[in-house]
Amino acid sequence: MRDNGQPLPVAAADPMHVHPVAIRKMSWETDDTFSLQLDLREFGESFHFRPGQFNMLYVFGVGESAISICSDPAKPKSLVHTIHRVGTVTSALAHMKRGDVIGIRGPSGSFWPVDPAVGKDVCIIAGGIGLAPLRPLLYSLLRNRKSYGRIVIMYGARTPLDLLYRVELEEWRKLENVEVLVTVDRGDSSWKGHIGVVTSLFSYLKLDSRSTIAYVCGPEMMMKFTLEELERRGIAEHQIYLSMERNMKCAVGFCGHCQFGPTFICKDGPVFMLPHVRQLLDRKEL
Ligand SMILES: Cc1cc2nc3c(=O)[nH]c(=O)nc-3n(C[C@H](O)[C@H](O)[C@H](O)COP(=O)(O)OP(=O)(O)OC[C@H]3O[C@@H](n4cnc5c(N)ncnc54)[C@H](O)[C@@H]3O)c2cc1C
Repeated sequence: MRDNGQPLPVAAADPMHVHPVAIRKMSWETDDTFSLQLDLREFGESFHFRPGQFNMLYVFGVGESAISICSDPAKPKSLVHTIHRVGTVTSALAHMKRGDVIGIRGPSGSFWPVDPAVGKDVCIIAGGIGLAPLRPLLYSLLRNRKSYGRIVIMYGARTPLDLLYRVELEEWRKLENVEVLVTVDRGDSSWKGHIGVVTSLFSYLKLDSRSTIAYVCGPEMMMKFTLEELERRGIAEHQIYLSMERNMKCAVGFCGHCQFGPTFICKDGPVFMLPHVRQLLDRKEL
């Protein structure tokens, strides 16, 4: 698949090889979500990724987690991951500071294809941490802005304090022919914006069903309702891409942990065109 002339992803020769990398910067995005910028100088020119791909981040002596790359693919040496602290590995990562060393394996998995969106409108729909893997896609689209029509970003978080990348959301909002719609499940006294689940934002939009490509990432329940809404608006299933961020272990299709029939989420996904994973959405992960 072509991808707007971007370099092909280049992973380590051995996908099981863990590369030690130092943390260049650690910053908190919200109370429970932080970003780690990694120092990839050791990789020289050899590390490239595409929007939607992920790395396995390894805390030595603790374990490994799949985490999407959320930085600009055009700047592969400044690699950023935004991480929601939920359990063992992500809590250990949350204790990291500048100069600490972690391991990475990657980049792994499929990516958001941008070619189908050339000459079309784009609708990016994110829930919670799902905005992280969509951010590199947005950087790519904006870098080749003239190739695409209208860009709509719909983003929902639990509360105003859970919103990621607030400064950038405001910057994107100012761009011509870019619409940013933000909602929260629960407001607070300072919140003047929309309250409701992300699908409630559809009532503010009129999408051109024949000319819109949609990219969706978030909790599976949010994605299910979003897909229903997109299809109700006439967007065909081959115009919809989603990322299935299910629990996985080896990330290279060896262990079968994320296997559903012939499909391995880790190597065939996480990004899929809707018809390829529709049945998976009705099946709980193991
Ligand atoms: C392709 C991919 C990309 C991802 N990108 C990101 C990202 O950019 N940022 C981010 O914060 N997280 C991301 N995740 C989720 C992340 O991998 C898990 O949250 C993490 O592995 C949890 O590890 P832990 O040791 O902290 O939690 P554990 O102690 O293993 O588990 C804590 C709880 O989280 C649940 N859990 C673990 N992994 C997942 C998962 N994948 N989905 C749902 N529930 C899970 C467990 O069942 C348990 O209930 C991604 C997952 C995948 C598969």
